[in-house]
Amino acid sequence: MKIYDLTLPISPSLIVWPDDPPLQFSQPYHLDRGDICTVTRLSLSVHTGTHVDAPAHFIAGGAGVETLDLHTLMGPALVVEALGVSQVTAVVLDNLAIPPGTKRLLIKTNNSARWAAGETKFYEEYVAITADGAQWLVDQGIKLVGVDYLSVAPFTALTACHQILLQQEIIPVEGLNLHGIPPGPYHFICLPLLIQGSDGAPCRAILWQA
Ligand SMILES: [Zn+2]
Repeated sequence: MKIYDLTLPISPSLIVWPDDPPLQFSQPYHLDRGDICTVTRLSLSVHTGTHVDAPAHFIAGGAGVETLDLHTLMGPALVVEALGVSQVTAVVLDNLAIPPGTKRLLIKTNNSARWAAGETKFYEEYVAITADGAQWLVDQGIKLVGVDYLSVAPFTALTACHQILLQQEIIPVEGLNLHGIPPGPYHFICLPLLIQGSDGAPCRAILWQA
């Protein structure tokens, strides 16, 4: 069984959101220094790398990541390619021939090539889902949507897309690396860390052939 790991490695060179706290690694204990073991301390935003958003991220009083339904976070998923588009609009989604009944949709765009190329600088013009694209997902009954850059929403219009999705309890999975993943049906699992009350959480996300 071939397993595709869609997760961005958490390392000091991982691109983080501008103005988010930086990724910081330290090792208060290390075998090399004669300590009895090695222990790494990590300081990071919960929106680091491959992660999910919870309603609390953009909705006042919204639920935390611990409320996200495991039934939604795992199951059949469809990978679609929207290459060469600058944004994922309702028209773009309409043209992808997404079968009715699709619950989990992972959208591969030109962003994934940036991960493959090993870019180290945040790119503001990343491809994301517009507000009308988000509404399209709501109308189609999508429950989980995966994107291949660090936000589901465009850099200059963060609020509308997030609110539309999170109000309907659609789970955005952000920061997937879909480079080299052929479009089609798969099995998907994404398990966010269980951080009580958190507006998001890093996760490991994998696919295997359906
Ligand atoms: Zn996020």
